[in-house]
Amino acid sequence: MKKDMEQELLKAVSSAEGQADSESAGEKAKNCGWQGADAAEREKIMAFSEGYIRFLNEAKTEREAVREIVRQAEDAGFRNIADADSLQPGDRVYGINHGKSIYMAVLGRQPLTAGFQGVGAHIDAPRLDLKQNPLYEDSGIAMLKTHYYGGIKKYQWTTVPLALHGVVAFKDGSVKEVCIGEDEEDPVFIITDLLPHLAAKQNAKKLAEGVPAENLNILVGSVPQTDADSEFVKKNILALLKEKYGMEEDDFRSAEIEAVPAAMARSTGLDRSMVSGYGQDDRVCAYPGLRGILDIDGVPERTALCIFADKEEIGSVGVTGMQSSNFELFIMDLLEKTGIVNPYAVQRTFSASRVLSADVTAAFDPTYADVMERRNAAYMSKGISLKKYTGARGKSGASDANAEFVGYVRGVFDRAGVVCQSSEMGKVDEGGGGTIAYILANRGMQVLDCGVPILSMHSPYETASKFDIYQAYKAYKAFLLAE
Ligand code: MN
Ligand code: MN
Repeated sequence: MKKDMEQELLKAVSSAEGQADSESAGEKAKNCGWQGADAAEREKIMAFSEGYIRFLNEAKTEREAVREIVRQAEDAGFRNIADADSLQPGDRVYGINHGKSIYMAVLGRQPLTAGFQGVGAHIDAPRLDLKQNPLYEDSGIAMLKTHYYGGIKKYQWTTVPLALHGVVAFKDGSVKEVCIGEDEEDPVFIITDLLPHLAAKQNAKKLAEGVPAENLNILVGSVPQTDADSEFVKKNILALLKEKYGMEEDDFRSAEIEAVPAAMARSTGLDRSMVSGYGQDDRVCAYPGLRGILDIDGVPERTALCIFADKEEIGSVGVTGMQSSNFELFIMDLLEKTGIVNPYAVQRTFSASRVLSADVTAAFDPTYADVMERRNAAYMSKGISLKKYTGARGKSGASDANAEFVGYVRGVFDRAGVVCQSSEMGKVDEGGGGTIAYILANRGMQVLDCGVPILSMHSPYETASKFDIYQAYKAYKAFLLAE
């Protein structure tokens, strides 16, 4: 290459760089969000993620998430709707559905029938539940039988430290809480796997069949009780349970105990740009939604409402799932306590409401690029991702948001400086997924899926970008306050 040509080229490159410098943060962020974030913004991103990491560690189950949300809500001036006789614009309330899902609202200047601005996330996560007759002894080892909850790759749950969280409900109506494995002094629990030396047959199986569900048995003890005449180890465990929780073996029948990874959430990477931890699907959207509604100051124009649902991972069914009519009851309570009583009020409210279904999507993973369609994948650190539709095989089961509503949301985000991208999850016919969106949409609300892309979704230790987590906070807050 000739010298003068080289210099021409250098000039061209430097002028292009100059142009890039003058571009808005939003333009730069098309490549990577971090590039558009100045030092002050990066500080906010990092600070926000500290609160998020604490939330992940405090709230590993849906019950714990509800408790933590109530604690933060009450600190921010919210009260239980059951304690309010009447409500005024600006009032901040929450309603708890059987300890496992929770709804929050800040009442707007306009009547509720003008519609609310909603953000709906879920607070259940894939895990292993103890069966109702879990405890047994075999070959000198006591173990607990489990039934997995939600979509898991079973092999991922062997040989990782587990903690047991949940409740034991007794026949007299009392309830004891269980949480073992989180304190540094606590023991942890483990599921064994086969040593490679003897795993030739296991290795030849399909990945999905390598560890059958009935092999997910949790090691719980190995010390025999000396004065027993059989099941020595099991009896020793029962004695310990009696001492610690006052429970008999039979009480497992009315217990809800979940085995979750004992590992704490941490910053990830030399640059600390990511968060890894259990249960980020969907706490990575629930926490930004929570912070968004907590941060509302004064009286919003329209009512701001957050949903933290249970049972999303198994189809949103049951009394605490999104399909439960207890959500309608919360809306009816809001209506009645603001003086609106007519037979159409609930449906009028729903039909005028706008909701973001705040749930995660798969982040593009260069190691597994072949399942993704690059032009429509969600990328780490490119902001919160809008999914106009979800579903699988020809959008089956999708809640496909109207273009007009997507345009409205893009406008709200733009004005708030939110960095966002649009994606669908994986190649067409590669698989798919769903959220609570369709359930809300079926009731007449306008709904758009919108959440944080994560790596290793549904694994014991998922990863998200701190940049995206902060964009979710900005996005949900702006949406809750939008007119
Ligand atoms: Mn989810
Ligand atoms: Mn999920």
